[in-house]
Amino acid sequence: MTAPSNPPASFSDDPTPEPGPVTVDRVRADTVARLARAGIEDAEVDADLLIGHVLGQSRGQVQAAAIMGRVLTAPVAAAIADLVQRREKREPLQHITGRAPFRGLELNVGPGVFVPRPETEGVAQIAIDALRSMADPEPIGVDLGTGSGAIALALATEVPHARVYACENSAEAFPWTSRNFAEVAAPNATLVFADLAEAFGELDGTVSVVVSNPPYIPADAIPRDPEVRLFDPAQALFGGEDGLDVVRLVSQTGLRLLHAGGALIIEHGELQGAEIRALLDSDGWRATATHRDLTTRDRTTTAVRP
Ligand code: GLN
Repeated sequence: MTAPSNPPASFSDDPTPEPGPVTVDRVRADTVARLARAGIEDAEVDADLLIGHVLGQSRGQVQAAAIMGRVLTAPVAAAIADLVQRREKREPLQHITGRAPFRGLELNVGPGVFVPRPETEGVAQIAIDALRSMADPEPIGVDLGTGSGAIALALATEVPHARVYACENSAEAFPWTSRNFAEVAAPNATLVFADLAEAFGELDGTVSVVVSNPPYIPADAIPRDPEVRLFDPAQALFGGEDGLDVVRLVSQTGLRLLHAGGALIIEHGELQGAEIRALLDSDGWRATATHRDLTTRDRTTTAVRP
């Protein structure tokens, strides 16, 4: 049989068909597909934010540019392709952009510091409410193991009549913490490089709120997300055999720092509420209670200093 003399026009033998203009719409669709294939859950969000990072635009502006058929220059398209490739390897979005939003803040983050999580915004809310409720014109709040400075800087900026102190003992994290404290420049916030067990002896018995997002993952549990497993510092994740080594230190330090009636606020894993309440009860705390996050998982346990 002979080949048809007029093959259908839709089938081309040319291996490199004319690519056409590199529109935002095409790059966005391609990026979403690639990130979804790499196992990233909110691929559209990440695609918009990566493209927007290169263009200096918001998610809404990227979507508008896509709808309007805007065309990208070759260097911009190449810069986006670079970032998409990094994200495909599950480097955290916040390491790629260098920024992590937390409540009203935009924090600097990168290798060596724990990336602040959305659920910790709810933990910070509890600490903010506790600090605001104190009948004291200048209550003191302390954030133990502040990492990027997220909780401490939220407290300092959202409760401006409070004095806020934060400590961090990781030499890898501390440059990020310092940079964030310098950038936010809250006049009521103080940062020190110190172990939480020894920090702030001069404040013993005077503090109204002690808050901490300590490492709480048990040593043998392996975080599911590669962004966490491969990029968050182990020191910020793992809390010894049962995950509660640092929680025990936070409890002791809280008893030392807080005045009677002061509040302790600890973030933890969704299955650790009962164990942490028991630990705090046996340390002598009052009114221990566990609170859920926005996904209805247990996330925070609070207690009052007797
Ligand atoms: N929340 C962390 C995570 O999602 C666990 C450690 C911590 O926050 N202290 O992996």
